Amino acid sequence: MIKHLSLKAYGKINLGLDVLGRRENGYHDVRMIMQTVGIFDRIDLLHKPAPGIQVETNLHYLPTNENNLVYKAARLLMDEFHITDGVTIRLRKFIPVAAGMAGGSSDAAAVLFGINKMFRLGLDTRELMERGVKIGADVPYCVLRGTALSEGIGEILTPLPPVPQCQVLIAKPSVSVSTRSVYENLHANELKPEQHPDIDRILEGIHRQDIYQIAENLGNILETVTIGTHPVIQEIKDQMLNLGAIGALMSGSGPTVFGLFTSPRAAQEAYEVFRYGDGARLARQVYLTNFFNQKENKS
Ligand code: ATP
Repeated sequence: MIKHLSLKAYGKINLGLDVLGRRENGYHDVRMIMQTVGIFDRIDLLHKPAPGIQVETNLHYLPTNENNLVYKAARLLMDEFHITDGVTIRLRKFIPVAAGMAGGSSDAAAVLFGINKMFRLGLDTRELMERGVKIGADVPYCVLRGTALSEGIGEILTPLPPVPQCQVLIAKPSVSVSTRSVYENLHANELKPEQHPDIDRILEGIHRQDIYQIAENLGNILETVTIGTHPVIQEIKDQMLNLGAIGALMSGSGPTVFGLFTSPRAAQEAYEVFRYGDGARLARQVYLTNFFNQKENKS
């Protein structure tokens, strides 16, 4: 029995996001290129002999009951394996919340990993991914991490070669976006073919290790919905491109925007513009990071 585990739960961006259609049950068929980035939440798991799951977090507005995805992840494995001991989950959030970076899903994936390890349940990565999809469509990817093609509702994953490294500037405006309402307002079949991103061209760029081909073809169909209601997203993209980004895109259902830079100096200057200069009115949270290509959780 392990008494204490410290874990990192990394956020993701989408280099490409296409929606192919909607299923009867409301889920959407997607085709997404997922990429882990170096921004992470910290999670401590502490074993306690008394039964129960206790969640503590630094953000007062997040639930600490069964509505928190970390609670759901622990509950799922502890029920299945009839674990009668308890666990305290300490969650420190750094990934922007409700922002299109799969923060909650990544936290859940880290807790699946941690509970499996703490109680020596013996599940392998694939078995953790199979359980993860019961918590959320992005959870299996967050168990896997790295660069991957995500299809189905997000659970059919094909690992891809790592994308050539570059600087990733992340800016989240102060607005909040509900993933559910963005998908509800997307009418993918009414869009023109040219409004769909060319996922195959991005895949080709990844296989050719051509960061410029990847950057030129970044595309997210959900921008058609979220930029309509939040034009600040377009302003951030334009500003990043003016500052030297080789590509810029909204991640997930938004509102977070990322820009890719091949020049570390241009990236640093752009970071400062968004942090302290005239970009600061557009973005509440700003980070300068990289792609994170270590596979599943080793910590
Ligand atoms: P995605 O990219 O998968 O759409 P997201 O970035 O839009 O994810 P999250 O930050 O994962 O969204 O969380 C969205 C909502 O889920 C929040 O409003 C919050 O109330 C709830 N939630 C539950 N557990 C967590 C958690 N561990 N971290 C963040 N949010 C959580």
